[in-house]
Amino acid sequence: MESLEILILYDNSSADPNIRADWGFSALIRTGARNILFDTGADATILLANMKYLNVPASTINTIFISHHHFDHTGALSTFLHAQPHAEIFIPQSLRGLRRPEHIFHIDGEYNFDEDIYSTGELKGIEQSLFIQTPAGFVLIAGCSHPGLEYILPVVEKHGHIHALIGGLHGFNDYRLLADIDYVCPTHCTRHIAEIAGRYPDKYLPGGAGRQYRFPNKK
Ligand SMILES: [Zn+2]
Ligand SMILES: [Zn+2]
Repeated sequence: MESLEILILYDNSSADPNIRADWGFSALIRTGARNILFDTGADATILLANMKYLNVPASTINTIFISHHHFDHTGALSTFLHAQPHAEIFIPQSLRGLRRPEHIFHIDGEYNFDEDIYSTGELKGIEQSLFIQTPAGFVLIAGCSHPGLEYILPVVEKHGHIHALIGGLHGFNDYRLLADIDYVCPTHCTRHIAEIAGRYPDKYLPGGAGRQYRFPNKK
């Protein structure tokens, strides 16, 4: 697609005093055809309040993508589904027990939703990441990167250049792996944000609930 927008709805830190920070991650990805809720954060009250403040009605979400089963990524899901029961939901194969949804897809291997939108598939039996093609390369969105970036990045690189990486990178510290990526927004559970920012000041994009980025990003 020509461009996409990512708005962080829920994060361990906040970029605006009116938006609550809480341990967890959720982002809205606007691609044009799809408004994707990527993960939900832990607490539905916080998610819905932040969405309200950021002018994102639940009814505008037509797709939900869940990276992995941990509570800080799924805790608000069942409440959110009461607000918007019609969205298509893409969850990892190992995540079971969702009763409400009408349109649910369990993702096992690599999966191509639409022309430009892909899942890495559930890697290491725990987590899938989303990647979307733009004219500058792929934008990769990760929940916690539990499988390890050394396993996630090659799945995307097989298809082409990675323009941006955004999300939780957990304990990731093999910084050389980021050398060919144009922009990195390490947030949520990322332990070494300061090291990544220090090593790659031209690539670094700060995270936090309320931040919005459009990709391709221009310097
Ligand atoms: Zn996790
Ligand atoms: Zn997490």
